[in-house]
Amino acid sequence: MNRLLLPKARGVATKTQHHGRTVLTTAALIVAAGRGARAGEGGPKQYRLLDGQPVLTRTMGLFARHARIDRVLAVIHPEDEAAFESACPGADFVHGGADRQASVRLGLEALADHPPDRVLIHDGARPFVGPAVIDAVIDALDRHEGALAALPVTDTLKREDANGAAAATMPRDGLWRAQTPQGFRFATILAAHRSAPSGSATDDASLLEAAGRPVALVPDDPTNIKLTYPGDFALAERLVQRETRTGFGYDVHAFDEGEAVILGGIRIPHTHSLKGHSDADVAMHALTDALYGALSEGDIGRHFPPTDERWRRAPSDVFLRHAAGLLAERGGRLTNADITVICEAPKIAPHAEPMREALAQALGCEVARISVKATTSEGLGFTGRREGIAAQAVCTISVPVS
Ligand code: MG
Repeated sequence: MNRLLLPKARGVATKTQHHGRTVLTTAALIVAAGRGARAGEGGPKQYRLLDGQPVLTRTMGLFARHARIDRVLAVIHPEDEAAFESACPGADFVHGGADRQASVRLGLEALADHPPDRVLIHDGARPFVGPAVIDAVIDALDRHEGALAALPVTDTLKREDANGAAAATMPRDGLWRAQTPQGFRFATILAAHRSAPSGSATDDASLLEAAGRPVALVPDDPTNIKLTYPGDFALAERLVQRETRTGFGYDVHAFDEGEAVILGGIRIPHTHSLKGHSDADVAMHALTDALYGALSEGDIGRHFPPTDERWRRAPSDVFLRHAAGLLAERGGRLTNADITVICEAPKIAPHAEPMREALAQALGCEVARISVKATTSEGLGFTGRREGIAAQAVCTISVPVS
């Protein structure tokens, strides 16, 4: 399940009361039904990997995570359904039509069941749209029926003659390059699409312009490129920014009567067991909390409340796999994790390798990224008195900057 996409995708777009004010709802319609023939081999460009993640996953995520977007709906090609389900599990979609205009219309009609106040229409192949541009387009709709992200033309424009030579310099004053998102009051753009002749528009703003209704120009960021040609992917890879984040986890479980402890996913015979709601795998809990910490996602208790009977005696890899899933949703990767188990007994060293393997398997990463080591506390404190086991974990992750 893609947690980032699901809640908003299923949210019903209706007016809501927030601190006594009426808040206008905004849907994002992501147009991704094209075949991308110009981008060369490798299937539709919106499903090709960019920094290890499908382009569309990235684009959808930018809108799903934006605080002012209430619903995200993708318009996809019917043949791409499996690719979409894999790239954006759980996200809402409808099938597109014969061309872009038809696809947008079908998306708008799907939204019309629970009409939002505003809709932002965005190309699935523009995975670098910034949150500030999304905000600026939404803000412009307070004063205008439509608004589009655009860049002023700064290059000198040449007209080519029949021999392929520059034959004239064209005036560029007042010229802008239309990009997306293009935002509209929903009822306005739905009516415009319903009355437009088919195949007449390569963007949505032009439908309003044609009716003599100007659309506001919102200055865009030049990095909001559209991936069209094979060379665009090389540029895009250079535009991807990642950041390094670190998380720390600490956990303690007391000894109980029993004959084995579970540590790092491995059963280790011992004179005692560990007390806990789940399987009490103190090492895996510390690592899971480190990963949640690196993601600023709270801790195990927040995602798996100890009051919930479902997690009684649960194998702790359920928690670690969940944290790893959140990391994957963000396009993140674990760089490394280092776990220290603190106890007088049992001896950890003979079990460190199988623990590394079990942890790596739960995380879906190479064993070389996981370190497991142990120390005693020289007889001091609660671990020294053999009252329980403590574990510390630190991890480093690499995530795309969003
Ligand atoms: Mg614990």
